[in-house]
Amino acid sequence: MNPIQPRDDLRSLSGYHSPNLNVSVRLNANESPLPPPAAFVDDWLEAVRAVPLNRYPDRSARILRESLGESLGQPTERIFCANGSNEVLQTLMLTYGGPGRKALIIEPTYALHSHIARITGTEIVSSARSADFTIDPDALESTIKSNDPDLVFLCSPNNPSGTVDAAEVLDAALQSARGLVIVDEAYGEFSPNSAIGRVNEDSALVVVKTYSKVWSMAALRLGYCIAPAWVVEELEKVVLPYHLAAATQSAGIAALKYRAEMDARVRELVSERERLMEGLSGFEALEPLPSGANFILFRVGKPGDVEASSRLWAGLVKHGVLIRDFSAWPGVEGCLRVTVGSRGDNDAFLTALGSILRESGDS
Ligand SMILES: *Cc1c(COP(=O)(O)O)cnc(C)c1O
Repeated sequence: MNPIQPRDDLRSLSGYHSPNLNVSVRLNANESPLPPPAAFVDDWLEAVRAVPLNRYPDRSARILRESLGESLGQPTERIFCANGSNEVLQTLMLTYGGPGRKALIIEPTYALHSHIARITGTEIVSSARSADFTIDPDALESTIKSNDPDLVFLCSPNNPSGTVDAAEVLDAALQSARGLVIVDEAYGEFSPNSAIGRVNEDSALVVVKTYSKVWSMAALRLGYCIAPAWVVEELEKVVLPYHLAAATQSAGIAALKYRAEMDARVRELVSERERLMEGLSGFEALEPLPSGANFILFRVGKPGDVEASSRLWAGLVKHGVLIRDFSAWPGVEGCLRVTVGSRGDNDAFLTALGSILRESGDS
């Protein structure tokens, strides 16, 4: 027996689980299929060589925030950066959540929203998306009014469903919420609309973004949010001093020079997404859901057929293709999620899918 146990409220917690098997085709973590442009890596390494390593990094990440603000049409004071958007979410929750505070989370959504709420001792109010994974604005408004949360979490496009929220959803949240409305836009670049333009000093709207997906920088851990300056000021008090390494700050600055390349990649991935969507729709046994992200969630067999979806997932692994298994996940039972990869990887996935489904007579 260990002499000390974690906090009582953390006992039931399980960590973040996403199996990482040794396969040739990885379409499980919504990463970019490509490394960042080689010229970016050169720029970045040159910048790192110039860093005085004996000194602490710029605590306010001023140049990075200025550059990001400029690229987004927002003042520097509205930008907060951290080690991945997960650290942004954690800092938001440490600052505005915690014991005695409530967060509204609309499931199924990104697992880290509820996970970080639990770690920070924030009470969770759960509500459910509709059967088609959209959010009904009237239902949202009444949930907010009856629960009075301190934080409302939206995720658009939503992970894992890919659903893009209608503008009315954000309207409803902003009109009815007393507290912060946080929109996680980790996949915003793949979708036609963004809430960034709606951030201002007079509403408590925060939009969270990441370099992990579009910017091909998952390994570097850099995320940020666009928020009213009065929110950013509070976040800066809570986050640990010098949390953002100089190398990370340099990477974020260097990357912004390559926006045109990234935009081209986004267009390519969106067109691959449409091709994957068509491929998936061609199988009788599968029902792909509309997606505004770089991944597609699809049902296998009859709704909630956990058996059929886990069997298909395991079959794909045998063919060397790893996707994300949501078979047993509340709200997405019987579903699998595939990341849009390179053309070759997507073809490998569709081919494996075809041979498995034909063999089982499910196609
Ligand atoms: C991938 C993802 C993130 C990114 O997290 P990082 O810490 O920036 O890598 C954030 N939110 C959602 C919904 C995601 O799917």
